Amino acid sequence: MAEVKKIAVIAGDGIGPEVVAEAVKVLKKTEELFGYKFELEYGLFGGIAIDEKGTPLPQETLEMCQRADAVLLGAVGGPKWDNNPKELRPETGLLGIRKALGLFSNIRPAVVFDCLKDASTLKPEVLEGTDLIVVRELTGGIYFGEKFRREGANGQEAVDTCVYNVQEVERIVRQAFEIAQKRSKRLASVDKANVLETSRLWRETVNRIAPEYPDVELEHVLVDNCAMQLLRRPSSFDVIVTENMFGDILSDEAAMLTGSIGMLSSASLGEGSFGLYEPVHGSAPDIAGQGIANPIATILSVALMFQLTFGYAEAGQVIENAVKSVLDAGHRTGDIAVDKSKAIGTKEMGDLIVAAMSR
Ligand code: NAD
Repeated sequence: MAEVKKIAVIAGDGIGPEVVAEAVKVLKKTEELFGYKFELEYGLFGGIAIDEKGTPLPQETLEMCQRADAVLLGAVGGPKWDNNPKELRPETGLLGIRKALGLFSNIRPAVVFDCLKDASTLKPEVLEGTDLIVVRELTGGIYFGEKFRREGANGQEAVDTCVYNVQEVERIVRQAFEIAQKRSKRLASVDKANVLETSRLWRETVNRIAPEYPDVELEHVLVDNCAMQLLRRPSSFDVIVTENMFGDILSDEAAMLTGSIGMLSSASLGEGSFGLYEPVHGSAPDIAGQGIANPIATILSVALMFQLTFGYAEAGQVIENAVKSVLDAGHRTGDIAVDKSKAIGTKEMGDLIVAAMSR
């Protein structure tokens, strides 16, 4: 009898509930195929929670996540709440949940599906074989350092401080080494060690830890060079690990390799195997309620959950293969369709992927 895994499901706002419904179908199909048992618990979060509970992150939702082995999140936000005071905005809930759950890294895969190579702005031959993951540190660095203004000799000055301690670097770098071990065993650590002291500490720490992972081939890449190489030969990367601001920029750059935001999954991880999984896209209020959103990013987030939290590598692969085969057969939602008149809906795409899942 398989161990029961608890998954907290948060649909959120806009297209969130539409895409999450399709990901739940995929979870159920995996139970059927592999004999796994998932206990799903649903909670309110974001705009809908502001409307119904008066706060973006109700205590009961947080407790539900803390009880769970993993969280599946749709998306939050929308114009209805844009002008609310800060504490009543959906994004405040996002920051709150990450902090409360101790999530310190953000993982974003960028996989180029052969049949969608033409959807990217890069030449198809450059994209050939691209399948990489960016591991971004989420809680330190210049975004969280001391910030202030002061009067200088030439007028007002602004200061942003970048701080990292060894422990913060160590925990994310270990996580990246472990992810690399589960993939093709190559890790690129990205920094600016020729200029920044935080980067020199980063590099020293990576070098000190590296001998513990002798099976992983490590390279150090300067961030400016990495930005270039991502456009020149993206397939040369497997796992990239980097600090908060570099990761913010590089993960968006890597995302553009794949062509559509509706295809991109992500994970935020803490200590141990716990993780929060969500599509990279937002709540897409412009298409919400129409049944046309692409559910693939959320479905691939389930595959990532299987790989990173549950260690169900084969099940993750089954989902990815099903997505590939449905795309290869020419099925497209509107965001990735060349001929929009032939586009299929959210539910249809979900049903086709479920039907294509097999061991
Ligand atoms: P968005 O990602 O929601 O939408 C950008 C564009 O991409 C829109 O044209 C949308 O229709 C399209 N799109 C997005 N996902 C799609 C999908 N699955 N299928 C087809 N098309 C898709 O970004 P935005 O418009 O900047 O933000 C809308 C709202 O979402 C805002 O309130 C923002 O704060 C919120 N947001 C939330 C998250 C999150 O929950 N983690 C992330 C980003 C933005």
